[in-house]
Amino acid sequence: MAKIDDKVNKEVEKAAKRFGDKFDEEMYRQTNPRVLEYLTQRNEVHERFSNALNNNDLGELRQIIVDAEIACPVSGTRDWTDVRQFNLMFSTEMGATSDGALKVYLRPETAQGIFVNYLNVQKTGRMRIPFGIAQIGKAFRNEIVARQFIFRMREFEQMELQFFVRPGEELEWFEEWKKIRMKWHQTLGFGAENYRFHDHEKLAHYANAATDIEYKMPFGFKEVEGIHSRTDFDLAQHEKFSGKKLQYFDPELNKSYIPYVVETSIGVDRMILSIMAASYCEEDLDNGESRVVMKFPPALAPVKAAILPLIRKGGLPEKAREIMNQLKFNFSCQYDEKDSIGKRYRRQDAIGTPYCITIDHQTLEDNTVTIRERDTMEQKRVSLNSVEQEISEKTKMEYLLKQLI
Ligand code: ATP
Repeated sequence: MAKIDDKVNKEVEKAAKRFGDKFDEEMYRQTNPRVLEYLTQRNEVHERFSNALNNNDLGELRQIIVDAEIACPVSGTRDWTDVRQFNLMFSTEMGATSDGALKVYLRPETAQGIFVNYLNVQKTGRMRIPFGIAQIGKAFRNEIVARQFIFRMREFEQMELQFFVRPGEELEWFEEWKKIRMKWHQTLGFGAENYRFHDHEKLAHYANAATDIEYKMPFGFKEVEGIHSRTDFDLAQHEKFSGKKLQYFDPELNKSYIPYVVETSIGVDRMILSIMAASYCEEDLDNGESRVVMKFPPALAPVKAAILPLIRKGGLPEKAREIMNQLKFNFSCQYDEKDSIGKRYRRQDAIGTPYCITIDHQTLEDNTVTIRERDTMEQKRVSLNSVEQEISEKTKMEYLLKQLI
C-alpha cells in the first residue's frame, strides 16, 4: 500500500512541475485516471488485508503477500513460509519446587495493575467518573525482531493511562484523548507535519476503536503511542475470574455499572528515540567550523547548564564552584574546566545543554557572567543574581506543560 501511495505521490509531483502555479492538487487527485487506477488498486489490497486480519485468515494473508509480489528487502526472495502466529509473552515459573511450580507470564503491558486497583483508587481518592489512573513500569514482549536501537526491545518502559468513563461515552472520550495526546506530542516542537494518526485495521479483542500516533523516525513513520477504547472487557474479565464485584456506583445516575475504559499507552524508550532523532543536528558555522548539536527542548535536556571557568587559575575555578553550588539544587549542572572554552562549548552542544555559563576575570570584579544559548550561540552578560531566572524559564517542565492548557 505504501508503494502504491509513493506512485501516486510521484504522479502528483510530476504534474505539479508541469502545471506550475496553476496546479490544483486536490482536483488532480480526484480526477486523474492514472491516480484513480492506483487508488482502486490500493483500496482492493487494503480491503483484502483488513478482512484477512479480522477473520484471522493466515492463508489469505500469505496469498496477499504472494499476489502483491512482496519480496524480502534483504535477500530479494519471494519464497515465503506460511504466515504464523508468534508467542507474544514470556513465561516463567513461580513456586518453591519445580513440580509444584505455577506457570506465570511477565506482563506485556502495565495496564492490568491499574484495573485490579481501580476501585481502591476510586474510593480512597474519592474519585468520580470520569477519572484516570496513570502509571509507569516495565513491560516485556517476546519480540521476534528486537532492533532499531531502542525502538523495539524485549524489556521496555511503558507509561499508561486508563481513563474510566460511563458506558456509551467511550468513543467521545476516545476522540478527546486523541486530540489531547496529539497536542502533547506537537508541543515538543518537532514539527506538526512529523506526526500522524494510524487507525487500526484489526482491533484487539478488547477494543472497539484504536489508533496509533506515529512519528517520522529516520526509518519512516513509526508508532510512538497507542490509544485504545478498551470497552469494559478487562474489568469484566477480572470480575468474572476473581468473583469480586468491580462495579462503580454512579451517584448522578443512581446506578452501578462496570466503567468503560479509554487507554493511552506510550513507550518511554521510543519517545526518547524520537526526541534524539528530532534533536540531532550537524551544523556548518560561519567561521568554517562545524558542530554537532542536540537541540533538545530545554525542559527535556538532561543537563540544563554548564558552569565553565574561562581559565584554570586566578580564582576563576573557585568562583565557578561557588556558582555551581548555588545552582545545583534546582538544575542539573555540569562543571567543566578542561580544554579551551570553544571545545567545552562543543561538548555541551553535543549533549544538548541549553545554557553555558562562563566565569571570567570580570566576574570577580563585578559579579557578572556570560550566558551562551545553545541554538543561537548568542552570548550575553548578566548579573549573577539573575542567572537562575535566565535559565529557569525554558528549562522548567512548567514551560512545556503550560502550553497544553
Ligand atoms: P508495535 O506495533 O510497534 O509492535 P504495539 O502496537 O504492539 O507496537 P502497544 O501495544 O500499543 O504497541 O504499546 C504501547 C506503546 O508501547 C507503543 O506505542 C510503543 O511506544 C511501546 N512499545 C511497544 N512495544 C515495544 C517494544 N518492543 N519496545 C519498545 N517500546 C515498545
